[in-house]
Amino acid sequence: MSVNVVIFSDVNGVIGFGRYGGAYRVATVLRNAGYSVQVVEFLASWSLEDLRDIAAKYIDRSTLFVGFATSLLIKRETKTAIERLERTKSNRNGGHLPQDDDFVAEMFSIFRRRNSNVKIVIGGGKSAVTGMGGVDFWMWGPADVSAVALCRHLEKDVPLITRKARSGVAVAHADYPFHGFSESHIDYQLQDLIFDGEHLPIEIDRGCIFRCTFCANQLFRKKGQMIKGRKTLHDEMQRNFNLFGTTGYMFCDDTTNDSREKVTELHRNITSLPFQISWTGFGRVDVIHTHREQRELLLDTGIKAILFGIETLNHEAGKGVGKGLNPMKVKDTLRYLGETWKGKVAMTGSFIVGLPGEDEDSVYRTAEWVQSDDCPLDTAIFSPLNIRAADSDDPNAPISRIAKDPKSYGYEVSDRRPGRGVSTDGPYWRNDLMDKIRATKIVDDIQSSMQQGVPRIADWAVYSRLRNLGYDHHSVMEKKATDVEFVNAAMARHADMFSAYREKLLA
Ligand code: SF4
Repeated sequence: MSVNVVIFSDVNGVIGFGRYGGAYRVATVLRNAGYSVQVVEFLASWSLEDLRDIAAKYIDRSTLFVGFATSLLIKRETKTAIERLERTKSNRNGGHLPQDDDFVAEMFSIFRRRNSNVKIVIGGGKSAVTGMGGVDFWMWGPADVSAVALCRHLEKDVPLITRKARSGVAVAHADYPFHGFSESHIDYQLQDLIFDGEHLPIEIDRGCIFRCTFCANQLFRKKGQMIKGRKTLHDEMQRNFNLFGTTGYMFCDDTTNDSREKVTELHRNITSLPFQISWTGFGRVDVIHTHREQRELLLDTGIKAILFGIETLNHEAGKGVGKGLNPMKVKDTLRYLGETWKGKVAMTGSFIVGLPGEDEDSVYRTAEWVQSDDCPLDTAIFSPLNIRAADSDDPNAPISRIAKDPKSYGYEVSDRRPGRGVSTDGPYWRNDLMDKIRATKIVDDIQSSMQQGVPRIADWAVYSRLRNLGYDHHSVMEKKATDVEFVNAAMARHADMFSAYREKLLA
């Protein structure tokens, strides 16, 4: 049962099981264009022997390319999946794919032995750095249009616009822009081997109405605008329910609650479904401060876990980066949410160490409050400011305003060479108050003191992925991140899921 395109995917850095939507969005456009596609999950779990079996079944002379969706891949680790900082550190030495270079070289050879013309294609967030050998095409930016153009080129020699890359060539979103998001959807298929009732990623919208200076998001949207059509979203959820019994979602947009209009629209749409959904996503506290009714509206829509990008509780630093709500009001809003969300919604706050104008005393005061009984957050994440290398190979790669012009924000940055594809570890920086090494040390200190406070395991990233292992809401919400027995049991369930998937994929 060979196919025209094989796409490997995984989200191997998070405990539990959950898919990455980008791979299935590309599969959807290719299938709609008449190409057969097999998405293969669990990339980090396969042995070379398994990969030979996959190649034998799915690759032959009709196969045009084997792609890799890199956005949520990290270096393969055997340790428990919840040690976030440890994982991040180890990932710094990793490349585009979870496996080491020898494994990757042999994997590519396996595919080319089945078909010497098959192309290796790297897409997703790590494709802007094109240093990995053995790659034929890099897909820069969203591939809604470019993936089809690539297939037409490989199949019928239709001319393809390419850009220079260090190995192979790149196909850029800038040359193949996509304007049809209002009717864009992901059509999961039976051959995608979706598990019964699986929580799935879904694109609610694309783009963000805000302009935070540290954030690389370039897809700006007008306030109040929701690009994705009501019927498109409604039908997508109904279809997933009919086919797979899905009622759980990982919302993929940048800020689900970014305006009153959007939340009202989502509420109207979701509550008109004939079933109750649950979802996880990203949000902003300041919008809820202004639109208090969002608390109940979001609860009605089935919110179960959310990441709030709070970044800092230092008012001056917050104003400088686009998170300017007075910290007292941030705290008040979190307490307001805690009144009705406690136990129902896992709230995580994300904080950045090293923002312009914030010294370490201020950061430690924030950490102290976050760990106090007064703080309603269930979990918190502190990360050192990451200033990405400006010179990635893709001239249109998303880059934050701070990374574009660090000097004007008070940063000196050195060694700005592109790395091996890892976007979370940019070059060394320093400002008047600290440098990257000190910020990393502060983060280590805070994270280890939070571990001693026995934090919950449930956050926006793991909630759905643990639900997919069969744990109910209550179990997910009450478990602690330090519960080794639970973590091992969850990993055993993940291994069982992989075995079941493997059997079906290779049947
Ligand atoms: S940090 Fe969040 S809210 Fe700010 S621009 Fe980026 S995606 Fe938007």
